[in-house]
Amino acid sequence: MDFSIPQPLQDLLNRARQFVETELYPLEPLFLQQGFNAVEPELQEKRRKVKQLGLWLPQISKEHGGLGLNLVEHGLFSAELGKSPVGHYAFNCQAPDAGNMEILIQYANDQQKKKYLEPLLAGEIRSCFAMTEPDFPGSNPVWMGTTAVKDGDSYVINGRKWYASGGEGAAFAVTMAVTNPDAPPHERASQILVPAGTPGFILETATPFMGSRGEGWASHAEIRYDNCRVPRENLLGPEGGGFRIAQERLGPGRIHHCMRWIGVSERAFDLMCRRAIERKIAPDRPLAFQQFVQGWIAESRAEIDAARLAVLHAAWVMDREGSKGARDEVSLIKFNVANTMMRVLDRAIQVHGGLGFSDYTPLALFYRNERAGRVYDGADEVHKISAAKRILKKYAGLG
Ligand SMILES: Cc1cc2nc3c(=O)[nH]c(=O)nc-3n(C[C@H](O)[C@H](O)[C@H](O)COP(=O)(O)OP(=O)(O)OC[C@H]3O[C@@H](n4cnc5c(N)ncnc54)[C@H](O)[C@@H]3O)c2cc1C
Repeated sequence: MDFSIPQPLQDLLNRARQFVETELYPLEPLFLQQGFNAVEPELQEKRRKVKQLGLWLPQISKEHGGLGLNLVEHGLFSAELGKSPVGHYAFNCQAPDAGNMEILIQYANDQQKKKYLEPLLAGEIRSCFAMTEPDFPGSNPVWMGTTAVKDGDSYVINGRKWYASGGEGAAFAVTMAVTNPDAPPHERASQILVPAGTPGFILETATPFMGSRGEGWASHAEIRYDNCRVPRENLLGPEGGGFRIAQERLGPGRIHHCMRWIGVSERAFDLMCRRAIERKIAPDRPLAFQQFVQGWIAESRAEIDAARLAVLHAAWVMDREGSKGARDEVSLIKFNVANTMMRVLDRAIQVHGGLGFSDYTPLALFYRNERAGRVYDGADEVHKISAAKRILKKYAGLG
């Protein structure tokens, strides 16, 4: 087994790292202290630069204007971008747009591709994914209240969604709604493209989230569909195929999150080590001399290294066998990496003392935002149960 990174890929990773460090780190104070909208004009400038440098859309095939990286390669690339809270956005591979691009590439017809996919790939618009509902359990998404009823050439949608990340300012929402209530549970819902501004598509608010409502891409919209009428041609993929498409979207999506979390963990680790060296607790006595701190550094390094290998391995399996073939690996990394990241962030904040709680470093933002990784795209418990059941099934087979 060869763990070395081929030179052309290493060059690409070096370029991504350099861009993140020199162009994006300086934008962070503005983002951290004044919010996404304050930094967006400059981010658009950075996006133009990323395009010029030929680093745009790392996760998308060359045919669609991307770099055509496979999942293992993107895993390494994404870990570089994840070091900054605006890294993925600058390269147009941010959630939820990256997942929406994937399903549009796979399921959109030519007309839908022109209207929704092409401007999304170009970075001219943003999108959101509206599946979860306040009144139904997201952990059991086949049970939902939003309906889309056929009326002539239209669907009429009614229901409520929340946590549609990036919904504020999005040009359209990929909306999950029940179209076939009498079908088996996994064939009841469909995905429908709903342009913002459609009458009856009401952005009610952004959910107050860990002390802040956020704004624009960095917020989570609550949406009400009130007799919202869209043409039937806005159906994405087959009717009743919504759940299957969502599953296909979530497989790579979960790996993408884990890859980004490696980047978050690396940034926290880097900040922790620097602070340990720089901060003196007495003249000539840096924090790094303390064995507690040394222990946190060694534990963090070991845990991040293990997490990174597990993520790359899951990506390697998915590259070969697809989402279904990699579902065990994905379930295992999903909760494992989310928890590793939180432990590393916690230690890094502890080493920073009061500074760690301020918005003078990205640690507090990471801590607030990334805690949700243990819930979205499948809560820890759900992944643990499904992985354990499949493991035990193999043992049951042994008799
Ligand atoms: C920051 C953030 C961003 C999000 N972005 C999006 C988005 O863009 N689009 C979208 O549609 N949704 C999004 N979500 C919603 C997310 O997918 C749901 O929150 C998630 O699926 C859990 O659903 P729920 O909140 O309804 O929790 P529930 O389903 O009510 O579950 C609550 C808790 O119960 C436990 N639990 C649930 N089922 C089981 C089980 N079978 N066994 C054991 N324990 C269980 C878990 O601990 C779980 O955390 C986002 C959520 C967050 C926090």
